[in-house]
Amino acid sequence: FIAGKRKATEVAHSVWKNVVSKGDSVIDATCGNGHDTLALLRMVADDSGRGFVYGMDIQSSALESTSSLLDESVNPNQRKLVELFCLCHSKMEDVIPQGVSIRLVAFNLGYLPGGDKGIITASNTTLLALQAASRILVSGGLISIVAYVGHPGGREEYDTVQAFASGLPVDLWATCKLEMLNRPAAPVLILLFKK
Ligand code: SAM
Repeated sequence: FIAGKRKATEVAHSVWKNVVSKGDSVIDATCGNGHDTLALLRMVADDSGRGFVYGMDIQSSALESTSSLLDESVNPNQRKLVELFCLCHSKMEDVIPQGVSIRLVAFNLGYLPGGDKGIITASNTTLLALQAASRILVSGGLISIVAYVGHPGGREEYDTVQAFASGLPVDLWATCKLEMLNRPAAPVLILLFKK
C-alpha cells in the first residue's frame, strides 16, 4: 500500500481502507480542511444510511471548511452521516454516544494548512485524546496519527505520541511507525492497532 505514495496522509488512507468497512463508525479528531473527514465518510457510508463520522476541531473556521467540502463532495444522504463538533479532541468521550463501536480514530496533528500557525495541537491534550481514543476503540480498530516534527513543539509532541505508543501493552496492542528515511523532516505515520 506504500507503492506510488509520497505523503504520510496518502499511506494512512490506504491503511484505513484495510481496517474500516461500510457501516462502521469512526472519528476524525482533527478535521482541519476536511480532507480526512471526506475520505473517512467515503469509506464508511453505505447505501442504506449506515456508517458514521464524528469530526472534531477546536477552530470553528476549520469546521466551516470541512462542512463546505462535504456539502460539495457528497450527496445529502451521505452528508447526514457526519456530525461535526467544535471541541478539543481530549473531550471526545463527551460527544460519542454510549454503546457506539468506534473502528478508527484519525489524528492529523499540527496546524491548519492555510490557517493560523499559532493554533496547533499540543502534547498534553494530544496525550489525553490518545488515552480517550484507546478506551473507546473497538477490538480490531485502529488509532492513526500523522505527526509533524518541523514546527515549534512538533518534536516534543511526536515524542509524547511515541512514548504513549511504546507503552501500550503488547497483549492488547500492536503499534508501529512509518518514517521517510530519506526525508527526515517529513511527517511520521504512527499506527496503533487494538487486538
Ligand atoms: N485532517 C485535516 C485535513 O484533512 O485537512 C488537517 C488537520 S490540521 C493538520 C490540524 C487541525 O487540528 C487544525 O485544524 C487544528 O485546529 C486542529 N486542532 C488543534 N488542536 C486541537 C485539539 N485540541 N482538538 C481538536 N483539534 C485540534
